[in-house]
Amino acid sequence: MISLRQIHEQYNTQEACMGLLVEMRWPDGVRCPRCGNDKVFKITKRNWTWVCKSGKESVNEDTGLVSVCHKKNGYRFSALVGTVFENTNYPLPIWFEVIYLICQSKKGMSALQVQRMLKEDGRPTAYKTAFYICHRVRAMLGNDEAQLTGEVEVDETFLGGKQKNRHAKVRAKYHGGGAANTGKLTVIGAIARKGNVVCQMIEDTSADTLSTFVEKAVADKVSLIATDESGGYRDLKHFYPHQTVDHKAGEYVRGTVHTNNIENFWSLLKRGVIGTYHNVSKKYLPLYLNEFAWRFNNRKNPDIFKAAIAGC
Ligand SMILES: [Zn+2]
Repeated sequence: MISLRQIHEQYNTQEACMGLLVEMRWPDGVRCPRCGNDKVFKITKRNWTWVCKSGKESVNEDTGLVSVCHKKNGYRFSALVGTVFENTNYPLPIWFEVIYLICQSKKGMSALQVQRMLKEDGRPTAYKTAFYICHRVRAMLGNDEAQLTGEVEVDETFLGGKQKNRHAKVRAKYHGGGAANTGKLTVIGAIARKGNVVCQMIEDTSADTLSTFVEKAVADKVSLIATDESGGYRDLKHFYPHQTVDHKAGEYVRGTVHTNNIENFWSLLKRGVIGTYHNVSKKYLPLYLNEFAWRFNNRKNPDIFKAAIAGC
């Protein structure tokens, strides 16, 4: 893992950051971001800018608009087009440092902590800038969308509110009945043992919601889906090799049937979210989930920083 000092030394200028960005974005040479043409021409008068004169039409998937890389005038693009850094006035070295900090912190980093680090490093930055950059970075960290295979554990958890102050009986009731009226946010997750985690915020814990999540996150040919006995999982047995442990009856492990891995991930997530961000709103929870899942899924990746840049 690269150190913060190395980040400072290697990516201290806009030029150096651009260099890495281009290398990660186009490892096989620069291509037109619109039409994919690889015969583009560098514009010598403007750094990190190319022109595409393929004459091809392309459709923007988001807007449906058709554009042409005109044969004569061409389509000019910079290395920043379509990245998280596009249309930003903040210097790339600041972005790179924030990306690094988010990658390497086990428990996540609040905008305030990031702002403090930047200041210590001689890059004073307004709080709202640090906040903006942190959230843009969280949103762009791209998790692998491949379906989970092998032995998979699925579970829900609740974040926010004041669960720990509740009486145990009430807690148990709410655990069974979802987060309705408790002010808590519900998250569902699936984890492949020794593999990736997938998680998302959900509105309720109905069988429909849980099954929909599982269908999307888990491959058909999974060898085991382990959950607790919650009724919401009752339909899974018709489609998957589904086994449950009865937490209410004090059963936590039966052979390979347990939810220990996903529960470990929940502890990591909760320690991070509560310890670092202190509270969590419905608006930002999906971003934190994205960040924690991404870091977990890259836990063995020595080039996690470059992987993050590649996803920008
Ligand atoms: Zn083009």
